[in-house]
Amino acid sequence: MDQKKLMAEIKDQEQPTLVHNLPEDTSKEIWEAANSKSIANSQKDIAWMTIHGCLPVRAFQHRRGLATSAECPREDCKGEEDIRHLLWSCPYARGVWKKMKGLIFRLTGQTNLTYENILHGTNLKCNYGKEETAWRVINCVKESLWASRNIGIYHHNPIEEKECIKLCFDKMTTYYYVDINKYGKTWAKGNWQTKSWSEYI
Ligand SMILES: [Zn+2]
Repeated sequence: MDQKKLMAEIKDQEQPTLVHNLPEDTSKEIWEAANSKSIANSQKDIAWMTIHGCLPVRAFQHRRGLATSAECPREDCKGEEDIRHLLWSCPYARGVWKKMKGLIFRLTGQTNLTYENILHGTNLKCNYGKEETAWRVINCVKESLWASRNIGIYHHNPIEEKECIKLCFDKMTTYYYVDINKYGKTWAKGNWQTKSWSEYI
């Protein structure tokens, strides 16, 4: 499966389609979140692929004869690796979210994380003006879950949960520096509270 070609084909469809038969307004909101200028292109790609259901997880590949098994590649996990499993219900993902939920709450006041809102970026009930930060952190977590899964497979080197969280912090640090340039150091420090992150590993 040529991932880049698939992405290009999907993006060529100028008008976004309805998401899982959701109403037009909700679909529009979901596509806007997936295409938000506030998140990195690599994270937009993952958001697009997850909404379209074409992130090449094992279940996706197995259905197309591209993988011998649909089983999750994480150690000691026998679940079927579909997108929900990868990003949310795999015990590994649950462990990462458990820690990151605490940090997301600290930074944004967000308390109602569900699979739907980490997938779609909708209904993020945060403190005033903090939705963008919550959405950025959520996308850092999703990208890190996908990256750590791929490093585990292709380099035969399982990545521990805490290493996945460190990957996530690296990506969040990039946003912190973007915000320093955009809003100044005082604001960025207050928004990101980087010194507190080590409490969540
Ligand atoms: Zn799993």
